[in-house]
Amino acid sequence: ADLPTVGDWVLTAPADENDPGSVTIEITLDRLSKFSRKEAGDRIGEQVIAANIDTVFLVSGLDVNFNVNRIERYLVLAWASGAKPVIVLNKADLCDDTADRILQLKAVSMDVPILIVSAQTGEGIDLMRPYIELGQTAAFLGSSGVGKSTIINALLGYERFDTRDVREGDSKGRHTTTFREMCRLDSGGMIIDTPGMREIQIWTDESSLARSFSDVEDFALLCRFRDCQHNSEPDCAVLQAIEKGELQVTRLESLRKFQQELAHLIEKQDASARAEKSKERKKRK
Ligand code: GDP
Ligand code: ZN
Repeated sequence: ADLPTVGDWVLTAPADENDPGSVTIEITLDRLSKFSRKEAGDRIGEQVIAANIDTVFLVSGLDVNFNVNRIERYLVLAWASGAKPVIVLNKADLCDDTADRILQLKAVSMDVPILIVSAQTGEGIDLMRPYIELGQTAAFLGSSGVGKSTIINALLGYERFDTRDVREGDSKGRHTTTFREMCRLDSGGMIIDTPGMREIQIWTDESSLARSFSDVEDFALLCRFRDCQHNSEPDCAVLQAIEKGELQVTRLESLRKFQQELAHLIEKQDASARAEKSKERKKRK
């Protein structure tokens, strides 16, 4: 987590007087936001994939790929990062019940902006530009094939990324963007596209969960008990809201799922921290 990553601002010094191009990173400035994932393999440390992102575009296809649960998950990740999420529904040209999909989505997205675009026809692409003006940095989150590379090409106005048909894809080298990359738009804004963003896992705390589930939290404030678990407690405002149809039961279920996942991660982190400590103690002896 302490190593410099894409999006970090760093202070450098010349590394070698004979080579004016070479620099040594002296200091990494504090990050305003960060996307992390669990380290690969058995290790459960934090690996920062991208830093200082202002806006994260959560891209989903309006075709068969459309999946509200997945977007709900991306929203949790986005709020946890400190970046502002914006939902981008791509492939509008392939969908004729957009209004219905937006309605489904609104049940989990609350007041997060939803943009309808088609990277293919160019429709709606300009709606993304206010988020990538001078000095702003945006990143993309979304499964493979939803059109992230095509959108980036449309924003840039030239083919930066090689896009290929998903169906003909050999999953390994499908993307030319196998390295982390940042590119600058004419506006002066910046775009980060890193393959790592596509595989991030939940790395968050209770407070960013509350942000993603503010609809549930708003009702929870009205429960009789402050530590109400919304199971069968008397005067539980959450259960009452579900009964009255003011809140979808799936929202409470999703929140529980994320809480469990988080608890599991924290448990594993604690266990590994303990193991690390006892290893150190043994070393010192
Ligand atoms: P990525 O994996 O998210 O980067 O997706 P790509 O940009 O590689 O796009 C995957 C496939 O979807 C390609 O065949 C694109 O041509 C196609 N595609 C992307 N955007 C659109 C769109 O707005 N409409 C349609 N019909 N196809 C699109
Ligand atoms: Zn309750």
